Amino acid sequence: MADFEVPELKETLDIPKYVDGVMAHSAPYTAKAEFQEALGFPGELPENWQQIALEKMTDLRTRYRSFQVYLDICVKCGACTDKCHYYIGTSDPKNMPVARQDLLRKVYRRYFTFAGKYFPKLVGAVDLTKEVLDDWYSYYHQCSQCRRCSVYCPYGIDTAEISMAAREILDSVSIGQKYCNEILGKVFVIGNNLGLPQRALADTLEGLEEEVEEDTGVQVKFPLDQKGADILLVPPSADFFAEPHVDGLIGYAKVFHEAGASWTMSSYASEAGNFGMFIGSYEVMQKAALRIRKAAIDLGVKRIVFGECGHAWRVAYAFLNTLAGPFDFLDPRYPVPQHICEYTYDLIQKGKLKFDKSENDHMTLTFHDSCNVARATRMGDKPGGQLEIPRAIIKTVCNNYVDMPIDTIGEATFCCGGGGGILTDDLMEIRVKGALPRMQALKTVSDEDGVTHMAAICAICKSQFTKVIPYYGFTMDQIVSVHQLVSNAILLTGATSENDSEAGDEGDSDKE
Ligand code: SF4
Ligand code: SF4
Repeated sequence: MADFEVPELKETLDIPKYVDGVMAHSAPYTAKAEFQEALGFPGELPENWQQIALEKMTDLRTRYRSFQVYLDICVKCGACTDKCHYYIGTSDPKNMPVARQDLLRKVYRRYFTFAGKYFPKLVGAVDLTKEVLDDWYSYYHQCSQCRRCSVYCPYGIDTAEISMAAREILDSVSIGQKYCNEILGKVFVIGNNLGLPQRALADTLEGLEEEVEEDTGVQVKFPLDQKGADILLVPPSADFFAEPHVDGLIGYAKVFHEAGASWTMSSYASEAGNFGMFIGSYEVMQKAALRIRKAAIDLGVKRIVFGECGHAWRVAYAFLNTLAGPFDFLDPRYPVPQHICEYTYDLIQKGKLKFDKSENDHMTLTFHDSCNVARATRMGDKPGGQLEIPRAIIKTVCNNYVDMPIDTIGEATFCCGGGGGILTDDLMEIRVKGALPRMQALKTVSDEDGVTHMAAICAICKSQFTKVIPYYGFTMDQIVSVHQLVSNAILLTGATSENDSEAGDEGDSDKE
């Protein structure tokens, strides 16, 4: 099945002894010149690439204080060395977070510190050569920017930020990753990562309406481009067709239906995901975020709600207001933005939704905390809400729920192995190996507690797991969306969705 060795699931997770260079061959396909140029990067390696790269590093040091601080303050304590899923899965020492940082730190020292300029060997400083760039390209695409290592670093050094910076420097000299950069092109031209045009989207949504009516006898609407709706839902585009994502979209629609909400999706901003974050480019990230602002203004909505997508929620929660704000044209009684889990949870709290939990009795669930949600965002108005709210929803709609071991969930969650722009077939080896710690935790609860399914609220996690889980002896259908579980259990009243009703004030989050 695989042309590489798939790690073995054992009784417990072993931290391997390091083996030099075992993943040096792993690197993603590079983007073609036309795609690089479309994003404002050079198409070919410029003659003065070294000067450009160092200027970019200067720019990043100046713009982001944290970047320079992270490069300066590591004391090599080693606390992060065994915390990265890619090190655990591959045993390549350059996948230890501190060693990954050092790939860039060595160059930083050489050009930006006194000791590095005059005594490079003494401080491990190196010249910026093409070989160094190649090493960066390989190993900074073996980091999913999950931030697990930063939780264990006594100084809070965030390797994800260094990884983003390295990718930005690489892009500045034309070395961009095909998967991320070509997808960004589709967003700017068509509106979503999948390149689904308006017509295809409308057909898909019409098909879903028919499917749900056939299943339930209830007319649940999936509105698109409906001007004057109260809520703009921005889902990840995977929700439009792929399993188990689409079952989540059906769940959102059923929740809106039961709330009597006035809502719509937008064909112009039909993508919650924002790969600008993965390539570290503020400008590209902003350009993608501004599409959501424009859609909200054009449609005249009062609120923006994001679907189940981990990094999208990080961009939305942490950066949307600075990237694309102010959102003073929205209803100030609601947070900007809101997560679909916050919306559903609020209705549950108010007793506005009814469920038959037994509809999910054929499953025993566990929940995978997605890195960006768990370590970089919040939900609701209490600390830890981003961990508690999805679990509270699952427990409301399912009778059988078990958490995975405590050191693999919550803030300590292990990445799915496919985040941060790694979710591409040309990186399948690192994806499969990086999934090892999560697969081990899943095995533990499968063996000990009879867990049959793992739920997630991230499009990338769901796509990654459905692809890699068979390598570890599980089956693709063991991965489910949280709103898929909601969809299974929710009791529909039978009323048709009044999409022009006045009832859009349901599901608020106590107007934080
Ligand atoms: S951010 Fe995540 S993937 Fe990157 S080095 Fe740290 S633990 Fe590994
Ligand atoms: S835990 Fe922090 S300070 Fe210690 S080696 Fe890792 S990055 Fe450096």
